[in-house]
Amino acid sequence: MRPSLLDPLFASVTALPGIGEKLAKLFARLVGREDDARVLDLLFHLPTGNVDRRARPKLCDVKEGMVVTVKVTVDRHRAPPPGRSRAPYLIYASDETGDLVITYFNARKEYVDKLLPVGAVRYVSGTAAMYDGTLQMVHPDRVVDEKGLAALPLIEPVYPLTEGLGANQVRKAVEAALARLPSLPEWQDAAWLRKRKLPAFAEALRTVHRPSELTDVLPQSAGWTRLAYDELLAGQIALRLVRAHLRRPQGRRHAGDGSIRRKIAGALPYSLTLSQHRALDAIIEDLGKPERMLRMLQGDVGSGKTVVALLAAAAVVEAGRQTALMAPTEILARQHLATIAPLAEASGMRVALLTGRERGRPRDALLQALADGEVDLLVGTHAVFQDDVAFRDLGLAIVDEQHRFGVHQRLALARKGEAVDMLVMTATPIPRTLVLTYFGDMDVSELREKPAGRLPIDTRTIPLGRLNEVIEAVGRAIDEGQRVYWVCPLVEESETGDLAAAEQRFADLKKRFGERTGLVHGRMRGSEKDSAMEDFASGRTRLLVATTVIEVGVNVPEATVMVIEHAERFGLAQLHQLRGRIGRGAGKSTCLLLYAALGETAKARLAIMRETEDGFRIAEEDLKLRGEGDILGTRQSGMPGFRIARMEVHGELLAAARDDAALLLDRDPQLASERGRAIRHLLYLFDRDEAVGLIRAG
Ligand code: ADP
Ligand code: MG
Repeated sequence: MRPSLLDPLFASVTALPGIGEKLAKLFARLVGREDDARVLDLLFHLPTGNVDRRARPKLCDVKEGMVVTVKVTVDRHRAPPPGRSRAPYLIYASDETGDLVITYFNARKEYVDKLLPVGAVRYVSGTAAMYDGTLQMVHPDRVVDEKGLAALPLIEPVYPLTEGLGANQVRKAVEAALARLPSLPEWQDAAWLRKRKLPAFAEALRTVHRPSELTDVLPQSAGWTRLAYDELLAGQIALRLVRAHLRRPQGRRHAGDGSIRRKIAGALPYSLTLSQHRALDAIIEDLGKPERMLRMLQGDVGSGKTVVALLAAAAVVEAGRQTALMAPTEILARQHLATIAPLAEASGMRVALLTGRERGRPRDALLQALADGEVDLLVGTHAVFQDDVAFRDLGLAIVDEQHRFGVHQRLALARKGEAVDMLVMTATPIPRTLVLTYFGDMDVSELREKPAGRLPIDTRTIPLGRLNEVIEAVGRAIDEGQRVYWVCPLVEESETGDLAAAEQRFADLKKRFGERTGLVHGRMRGSEKDSAMEDFASGRTRLLVATTVIEVGVNVPEATVMVIEHAERFGLAQLHQLRGRIGRGAGKSTCLLLYAALGETAKARLAIMRETEDGFRIAEEDLKLRGEGDILGTRQSGMPGFRIARMEVHGELLAAARDDAALLLDRDPQLASERGRAIRHLLYLFDRDEAVGLIRAG
């Protein structure tokens, strides 16, 4: 159970003054939570900068563009003339050295009268500008009297915002959240804190949100570092607990005789690459051990992970047990099934599909077959986690595109059998430091080479202004019988925006290319998506307009051209994933990255895409350019990644957190000591509490 001390932090933000259901929704979006933002989420919503209001010049010394706080006397008001409500409301003020005009647009008279009454002394803070030779301040950030000045933060944190939420609303909410911060037992080692000169948790939060120095809001600051270390430690402890739970010694041996694998190999139109062989050998060895397997198969897009997964499944089936293969989307699950089915048939493996779309009688029949052991390999989506899905004897669980699933989902799958071996696959090349961070000491196999015969992809960057030429080129490609993906821009903050853009582009292109044009996007029903994908795969359509739903794993080897609109809006890793959809067959492939205005970072990013197809290099560069959150696509996929720690700043703390976690759990595996009990608070605060459940489960 969650320690009750934490209750105020886990309350909904609607518990804070002035936040109702509507604002709460915006806050949820701001902090990246699906349903409901909690007080805690506001505390962890850290500033990205600050406004320095400490400059307190006399009016004659105010320079244009400077943020200042000036002490003035209000001399007179000039309301907009009747009938011209669009004209600004002007307030004339002064000090002994000069004049200041304070300007409001669309202001109500009562509001201005109350804020800046004639004759009163006020402290006004904002950015000054010169208009017609007079000093002006348009919509000051702050207007306070003598009493208010004492409470005015002279260094004010600046927060990331979201559409519909203003800076002041966010600041006020964070302040209200800070006020509810209880005093908590210290979970960090006191000597370590002293050595590193790190503050207590609550103090750290207060300094970052109420900076008294400009550096207080930087990730390098003592406060931020403390919070980052908390987060890293929570992560490492959770990993250890999960790992200990998964690696119980009572694993089982699944050593097959190779009979099914030989039949599959015989039916394959190609031979495995060296790294596919190596990865498979490592997996087979793990499967044969009496210990539980927890292995990650990491391979760039197109490196051929699916066939490795299939052969691993075959080995388990040879041993008389079942395998589940989970994909993050329905399209992918169906595609896996399509790839696997003919090979499975050739080898006598019984394969079935379970997604959210299987319902009613067919679903019942499938579940019965599964429970009776008449299905050897179940391919599916999240639907496989459902409670009523039971296997006769699940030996191996394979999770594709693993970063799209959370730890608890992995655990749920592992619970569907007895000591289930786990193989997780990811196409997102994850740098070594991050593998450690997220997955602890999980074993890793890499597929570093691409299947033979692949031609390099010709990648070009083209300004959006030349769209018409691109459409012409696409037309030529289609006429030659090639197949083309057209990926539409990611519109910041709104899925519906993506959709509108894609639908508009689809309408345009359809006018030009007629029935040969298809559309697929995330809001379509499953069956619509399938038929759009099938039409494209079979060549009924030749141009497929898409949102990023095609990002992961889709395999149409005949596709040779990819157009990405507004490529500058995508992350590098994402571009790489998208581009990986082409260059899979024998034909020569081209990727056209269309861009609008480019900043320096965006330029550097697109240049890397032109230079290399090496996913590992791209991932490293991405890490440098963007920080770790985006690499794993946490923003898009909602993976419980890090909110506070920044790998480029706090990466060096990781080893310490790992050692600390190891030591702690060796001494106190039940978290029963005083520090252990404090640590439980930490695990809840960083949403690692599923690990607490594992302790209790023993
Ligand atoms: P990913 O690793 O991205 O999941 P897939 O498993 O979808 O890659 O494989 C991509 C394509 O490469 C598929 O069409 C598959 O049939 C093919 N492929 C896999 N292994 C080989 C190989 N050793 N030689 C040639 N083609 C291969
Ligand atoms: Mg794949």
